[in-house]
Amino acid sequence: MIVAMQEFATEEQIDTVIEKMVEHGVNVHRTTGASQSILAGVGPTQTIDLTVFEQMPGVMYVHRISSPYKLAGRGFRPQGTIIRFENGVEIGGREVVVMAGPCSIENEAQIHETARRVKAAGGKFLRGGAFKPRSSPYAFQGLGIPGLKLMHEAARANGLLTVSEVMEISQIDSMLPYTDLFQVGARNMQNFNLLRELGHLRKPILLKRGIAGTIEELLLSSEYILAGGNYDVLLCERGIRTYETATRNTMDISAIPMLHKLSHLPVIADPSHGTGKRDMVIPMALASVAAGADALIVEVHPNADKAASDAAQTLYLEQFEEMMRVVAAVAKSVGRSI
Ligand code: PEP
Ligand code: MN
Repeated sequence: MIVAMQEFATEEQIDTVIEKMVEHGVNVHRTTGASQSILAGVGPTQTIDLTVFEQMPGVMYVHRISSPYKLAGRGFRPQGTIIRFENGVEIGGREVVVMAGPCSIENEAQIHETARRVKAAGGKFLRGGAFKPRSSPYAFQGLGIPGLKLMHEAARANGLLTVSEVMEISQIDSMLPYTDLFQVGARNMQNFNLLRELGHLRKPILLKRGIAGTIEELLLSSEYILAGGNYDVLLCERGIRTYETATRNTMDISAIPMLHKLSHLPVIADPSHGTGKRDMVIPMALASVAAGADALIVEVHPNADKAASDAAQTLYLEQFEEMMRVVAAVAKSVGRSI
């Protein structure tokens, strides 16, 4: 349920409503705007008589939300969520934030050269997998924490933030000092224990859509994180598996405006995994920004053809620089910047 307080309702009135909600066994999440507070209640709200709340002093309206994702739903924060990072970078505002780097962190030279070029071209995050979810157990599995340390050093030396995938709960603590944004990969979108644990962190989460995940399932997965009190979740469209085989995945551009309509959470697009082909990354990046993406994440490597993973979809450095130029033009045409 959502209880919208009247503008300038007193703290006492708000507290009384919260107490009443708690009395009914409801868990309350409060959002305070410039002049108005919204109380979102999660719990056994189906059986509550809403008129009890409607009549309380300071209440503007009460609404039962039928959608199963109460905290991720647009109604919880109609104005949208902006995720703020330490160095002033914001996702969900006017700027389209670009994250780029190799699929896997491989060595110091690779990650430093990438960091330098990503920064110079206007990227804000350095990406790189240290723990890799590979389809084959015999494929390169990543360098683990030593690799993540290398990426963190390269990122900080160039004024960049880091994003890397966490595959299991036991990795969280050791990743914390080196990770500004935790990625949950497509294969783990419904690893509910991991999501619940990430809900207790106070670091932003990039949640990828599963290869067979519906939009509703993606939002329900994000709800696991939000329910723990971590509201900084970035939803990622990275392509879904369909009957089409011409591309690695089918990039669902329509998911971007749909997610914006259904949820207040910012949306990031991944045209690298979304297509699996490097010559399709730029067109899909442009389409994503035109469709309202708040951020982009792409794979780029100084020696892309020899990348240890996902070489076919990895941009050459020059292609990434070209992408930044053309994405800036589209961003401008839709009232945004990079
Ligand atoms: C990745 O980012 O390299 C990755 C494995 O992504 P996904 O989970 O979307 O396949
Ligand atoms: Mn990859």
